[in-house]
Amino acid sequence: MKKISILGSTGSIGKSTLRVVDNLDSQCEIVYLTANRNAEQLIKQALKYQPKAVAIVDNDAGKTVADTLGSSIEVLTGRAGLLEIAGRNDVDLVMNGLVGSAGMEPTLKVVEAGVDVALSNKESLVMAGSIIETAKQQSGASIFPVDSEHSAIWQCLAGEDLDDVRKIILTGSGGPFRTRNVKTFKDITPDEALNHPNWDMGNKITIDSATMMNKGLEVIEAHWFFGLNADEIDIVVHPQSIIHSMVEFADRSVKAQLGVPDMKIPIQYALTYPRHSSAEWEELDLIKAGQLTFEAPDLEKFPCIQLAYDAMHAGGTTPAILNVANEQAVYRFLAGSIKFTDIPAIVKKACADHHYIPKPTLADLKELELWATDFVSAYN
Ligand code: MG
Repeated sequence: MKKISILGSTGSIGKSTLRVVDNLDSQCEIVYLTANRNAEQLIKQALKYQPKAVAIVDNDAGKTVADTLGSSIEVLTGRAGLLEIAGRNDVDLVMNGLVGSAGMEPTLKVVEAGVDVALSNKESLVMAGSIIETAKQQSGASIFPVDSEHSAIWQCLAGEDLDDVRKIILTGSGGPFRTRNVKTFKDITPDEALNHPNWDMGNKITIDSATMMNKGLEVIEAHWFFGLNADEIDIVVHPQSIIHSMVEFADRSVKAQLGVPDMKIPIQYALTYPRHSSAEWEELDLIKAGQLTFEAPDLEKFPCIQLAYDAMHAGGTTPAILNVANEQAVYRFLAGSIKFTDIPAIVKKACADHHYIPKPTLADLKELELWATDFVSAYN
């Protein structure tokens, strides 16, 4: 029985993880659940899975949860409650399904506690890759990819030697604006950007897919997961989202991992690794899928891709600034206070203007996170 904690259990990844846990039936036990502010959903989940404790970040929502569950289940509240649950070592695996930079410190807490992480929160490695890597080496914890592209590469690398890898090829759907005229990008509305052609995901990552910043963040994530340099990580646009990524080896042999675009598959693999457990989910029908097509990413339409490569080259605090500025710009775009095309402009300026630190500590990153948040809210 694998003891599991889910950070962000009421979000898109959290809910899919619980469906995977249902599928795995007696193989997993839920020990902890955490949510940001969705009290109703967290209560429902707690009553069903009977965890040892739950944490909810929003204090008002926390009162509702404590009133309902407090007599039978430990209820922690606030950001401190989330971090405490993240740091508990009486579990075998923590699923980090948190959204954005808020997921970075919890990842570090889990790794420091010596517990393995199934990492959906790519922002953790983008912001604090070097700090997390050091903590991993000290504690012996492992990090398993949940992001579909990185799971694909991980699966392609099974039984292989990393030294034999020539490059990896991250695929991306190209998002909803792949064929839209770039001249009209300034008129893109949040509703249009939230309408992803293939994947059903949370709002933040859906906007990142529309700007293709998501692919840029995934390049930096791949750098930390697989120890590859920028020139060993390529991006190919593949609108059907059937091939989830590829690995090219020294002899030019290329391996790919395929499947229907369904996050439950990479989530379950991270939970059952190195086994592929049985599941009754939709199977890939290649005849129905028909043509699989590929094209180069359009860097004029999607400048965020180049910004991410540049941030990776700059290193130090730049990827963290890229990430925080992007996140805050995405929220401003969703709120209707900036244009779609302002997102890369803001990110570029934040990366250029910030106080660069080559080897940041966690405290440095927290301070810069505040700076970048202020920077974006002041932008007009
Ligand atoms: Mg992905």
